[in-house]
Amino acid sequence: MQTSNAQKTTLAKLDPRGRKVKILATVGPASRDREMLAKLVKAGADAFRVNMSHGEHADHAETIRSIRALEKEFGKPIAILADLQGPKLRVGKFKDGQAVIRHSGHFTLDRNPEPGDENRVELPHPELFGILEKGQRLLINDGKIRLRVIRADANEILCSAEVGGVISDRKGVNVPDAEVPIPAMTEKDRKDLAFAVEQGVDWIGLSFVQRPEDLAEARKLMGPGIALCAKIEKPMAVRRLGEIIELSDGIMVARGDLGVELEPQEVPPLQKKIVNATRMAGKPVIVATQMLESMIESPTPTRAEVSDVANAVYDGADAVMLSAESAAGEWPEESVAMMDKIAVQVERSEDYKARVRFLDTPPDATTADALSHACMTIADTVSISAITVFTSSGSTARRVARERPDTPMLVLTPSMRTARRVGLLWGAHAVATKDIGSFEEMIAKGKRMALRHGFGKAGNKLIALAGVPFGTPGATNLLHVVTLHGDELKGFGE
Ligand code: PGA
Ligand code: MN
Repeated sequence: MQTSNAQKTTLAKLDPRGRKVKILATVGPASRDREMLAKLVKAGADAFRVNMSHGEHADHAETIRSIRALEKEFGKPIAILADLQGPKLRVGKFKDGQAVIRHSGHFTLDRNPEPGDENRVELPHPELFGILEKGQRLLINDGKIRLRVIRADANEILCSAEVGGVISDRKGVNVPDAEVPIPAMTEKDRKDLAFAVEQGVDWIGLSFVQRPEDLAEARKLMGPGIALCAKIEKPMAVRRLGEIIELSDGIMVARGDLGVELEPQEVPPLQKKIVNATRMAGKPVIVATQMLESMIESPTPTRAEVSDVANAVYDGADAVMLSAESAAGEWPEESVAMMDKIAVQVERSEDYKARVRFLDTPPDATTADALSHACMTIADTVSISAITVFTSSGSTARRVARERPDTPMLVLTPSMRTARRVGLLWGAHAVATKDIGSFEEMIAKGKRMALRHGFGKAGNKLIALAGVPFGTPGATNLLHVVTLHGDELKGFGE
């Protein structure tokens, strides 16, 4: 086994990206011009997040146009995730734009739209007045200010300030102890969603999901063809994680709000739990927020941040995300490049393969899983330079990725949507290509694409995985091993 392992290490480097984990970069004022987006793609961004919490539709439309143009320029599909703001609660405005809440003092949230001061401010969310109870917490400005309810009625919530501080206009409020009786989509979200659908984005991110029903509502408005990513940032969602994963196409570990709603030290074990549960379900999972936070201002990250990114890669996350680092920071390109370097280094390390497969993902009793599992066994026995997956919906690619194979995966699909969507899937290198009609055509195309995209050379073996008849989603039933001769590029066609 020693020799074959050494040989496989060389083969694994044929993965053109040099890593399996994907990089999702948030676009914002620091990165939305076309040249910078191109730099981010070159530096390693596989997918972009358009954050609907900030900016105007016109700007987002321009960003999406630029990304689609870059896809053509670079000849590779790029996933776009439109992230809806969700029911983010905010206080109203202040007379002087801000006020200081005294430590151990009292502070009242009410329904009076008059500008606030050091004693009170409007909370423009009528839903909260009926439900908050004595002893529950209100956390303001990412938890920097901590209030505890003394008394709440239909018009006023009187609180004691356990931790005071400066509060300013429209600061965010988290109420971790209560289930908020508002759906995961506001009026703004509906408008943003309609816009995103019209713009042809590939993924929708749903913020502050609390209940499985929240997903059903978004799904109805989205229609088919777009993937839904549930952001786990509420304790309520953690409690119903299994059902939420079941109804989603992907999951984001939204550590920013999760770390406010829960205690920060509760986040790392939850990250592992959410990553594992999502991996087990064969759906992509993104680890997000503050990954290289200090790079908003500095060209080099802290050692702890580097370790954080590395550990998410070791955990087998499908994607790691940049927020303000790429959206609003001074070093967007350097942040992507740094994430790329960390991921490449981890995936090259000796124990990465063992660590990433630490999670046992036993196959479901389906032909698709039996064959996906067989790919691993074959690749572990004989040297295989790539698993070429022929898929229309992407489901075969997800089942293969679920096994976290060492062998690079080339996804060939007639659907541009599928090619883009797997931009968030671990190890999936997608090429959108014309549909195939026969077995011979499939093999010829698999060989040609592997050679063209750097997934093998003369003498290497490939696995071809497909469902016959072609174009039937989820019908994976064919596994074939072929040897590359090196002259297959002479064949014609896309
Ligand atoms: P946000 O989501 O950046 O949209 O708040 C991510 C998070 O909360 O971590
Ligand atoms: Mn959030």
